Amino acid sequence: MRISVIGCGYLGAVHAAAMAELGHDVVGIDVDPLKVDSLAQGIAPFFEPELPELLARGLDAGNLTFSSSMAEARGATVHFIAVGTPQRADGSSNLSYVDAAVDQLLTVLAAGDVVVGKSTVPVGTVAALAPRIEAAGATLIWNPEFLREGHAVRDTLAPDRLVYGIGAGDNRSADVLDDVYAALLEAGVPRMVTDPATAELVKVAANAFLATKISFINAMADIADAVGADVGQLADAIGQDPRIGRRFLNAGLGFGGGCLPKDIRGFIARADELGVGASFGFLREVDAINLRRRERLVEVTRAALGGDLVGRRIAILGLAFKPGSDDVRDSPALDVATRLRAEGAHVVATDPQAIETSRRLVPELEYRSNVAATVTGADAVLVLTEWPEFVELDPAVLGRIVGRHLGEQIVIDGRNCLDPALWRDGGWRYYALGRISDPAPAGMNVAQLA
Ligand code: NAD
Repeated sequence: MRISVIGCGYLGAVHAAAMAELGHDVVGIDVDPLKVDSLAQGIAPFFEPELPELLARGLDAGNLTFSSSMAEARGATVHFIAVGTPQRADGSSNLSYVDAAVDQLLTVLAAGDVVVGKSTVPVGTVAALAPRIEAAGATLIWNPEFLREGHAVRDTLAPDRLVYGIGAGDNRSADVLDDVYAALLEAGVPRMVTDPATAELVKVAANAFLATKISFINAMADIADAVGADVGQLADAIGQDPRIGRRFLNAGLGFGGGCLPKDIRGFIARADELGVGASFGFLREVDAINLRRRERLVEVTRAALGGDLVGRRIAILGLAFKPGSDDVRDSPALDVATRLRAEGAHVVATDPQAIETSRRLVPELEYRSNVAATVTGADAVLVLTEWPEFVELDPAVLGRIVGRHLGEQIVIDGRNCLDPALWRDGGWRYYALGRISDPAPAGMNVAQLA
């Protein structure tokens, strides 16, 4: 089948390459000519495991091309919309890129084409856009995307589920999308057909639920700090209950990235518009709890360093919003690094993949290409993204590189990803959110300072 994918960012580039992998004839279209050039040469414009191999296979086979001209979408029968839906200043979703993509698509759309939205949009978007597309004899459906950065290729080729949001009486669009995803359906991927509004809501509801789970356990971390309890053990114990589950119950620096934060804010704004905002007050608190983690980590760092950050050398390990990605959009790690610098600390940071993306956003930070150069002489080492290479660091070896006396080495585990006993045995003072931390020099523990 001939397919176009409009918007080739984290979602669209992977989707285009994955559709080519399924055997379709795919053109990826983006307004950013640099991104198009890079993709056309098989160079992924961002870090995503397995994407380079997938791009190479499609480009070599000749069934994957990229273009900055919408004219190339002419002749495709299915057009996926994968452009960005960022947050506006008031928290609502900015649909101007979706609107522009639809306007441009209308110039090439033929009767019978199926336009399939994948971007995350506020409920009601299909109802608003459909008349323009139907006037061209085409149909609009929504097929929300649930991929996780760092696992995007597998999530696209073997998703947990496929959701088709289709208007009443439109049986053909479901058949067309079944043809697109035939290999996935044969492999047993569950597929649900809903009305468009439900499909739009499924995506934002899933993100709201996941965000709530994270902020719930982070609220528990605050109370654990107040009483000297351990939030990791708490999560392990409640997570044994299958109704609760252990996943997404890791306390720490909280969520970030290009999706969860803006999606819950967009959801709140849309609920307000629809007059049901009162039921979503809890999501405002979910957002607020999440943002407080960042300030809390700064407090913990200040306390661990005896109450003053000015001139202290702080090594930051991890800048990406999560491991497996170079994405620093609304990254908690980059935010903490920026806050510490604003308080007068001498911040030096590294990340396996996210140095360049961070430098573009925060050029004034000092970046180093490796852990050793980052931690040398550090007054405190902060692990802010749980990359495996940081989780597996040997505390004794790292201590020698830091070059401080035993007992003066401070590690702050922003992701509760390190083994406290191992680090203490290696001569480090260990601090974390929601886990018993070593006393700060002033003799106060972190909980008492809160
Ligand atoms: P992104 O910013 O990486 O990519 C968006 C791309 O669209 C950019 O390359 C931009 O140049 C392009 N674009 C904008 N206007 C265009 C137009 N008129 N024609 C062609 N291209 C255009 O964003 P993303 O992370 O890929 O997210 C895209 C959408 O997918 C968002 O709605 C997001 O919420 C949703 N989503 C993202 C993820 C994720 O993990 N990144 C997961 C699920 C859903």
